[in-house]
Amino acid sequence: MTFDLDNTLWDVMQTITGAEKLLRDWMAEQTPAALAVYASEQIAGIREQVLATHAEKRHDLSFLRIQVLRQCMIAANMSPADAEENANQAFAVFFAGRNDVVFYPNALETLEILSQHYTLFALTNGNADIERVGIGRFFSGAVSSADVGASKPDQQMFTAVLTKADVQAGRAVHIGDHLSDDVFGANRAGMRTIWFNHERQATNNTDHEPTAEAHALADLPDLIASLGVAQTR
Ligand SMILES: [Mg+2]
Repeated sequence: MTFDLDNTLWDVMQTITGAEKLLRDWMAEQTPAALAVYASEQIAGIREQVLATHAEKRHDLSFLRIQVLRQCMIAANMSPADAEENANQAFAVFFAGRNDVVFYPNALETLEILSQHYTLFALTNGNADIERVGIGRFFSGAVSSADVGASKPDQQMFTAVLTKADVQAGRAVHIGDHLSDDVFGANRAGMRTIWFNHERQATNNTDHEPTAEAHALADLPDLIASLGVAQTR
């Protein structure tokens, strides 16, 4: 069983907003001149420049953010060594917030139940760290965009996690909130799919038809049992 993370187990916008606030508070205290750059219109150009310089790293969000911060420090007249040191420290502050998530209802209980019967892998386009989030014990492993150098719905992501889990696509189920990245991507990889649709969005896109739909995480154990997914534990 493979699990998307952001917007499947927690609200990513709320998490990133909190992490951004921590980052800006730290910069206001420690590197105010760099914060002035970070909070200015210059930031769009810096982001573009970093992406152009490191095109091969475009799926590694942590790396890109550190580079953007480093460029802000340099634009604030720091030495390269100080810029690097401060960018790493600023990122550490952001990353602590990024992993300080507020789970959706019953997320931990559901992972606990599922992990007793199935082998779970995380499959994410983001940079959350399952150990730091506090859910590592439920998972046998994780695959991120930074690991693969591609993002869902790219088939390389699904191939990577299926290989890591040593399971055939037809025996695996992917659970995620995103109709294209998760449902379409995993369908195309030959997996069964559960669309986590807690906001009860309507869809009539037949290319993105999930095997089943869940409106709450607590519904997953029964739903998965009803699909006849073989237990592996
Ligand atoms: Mg998601």
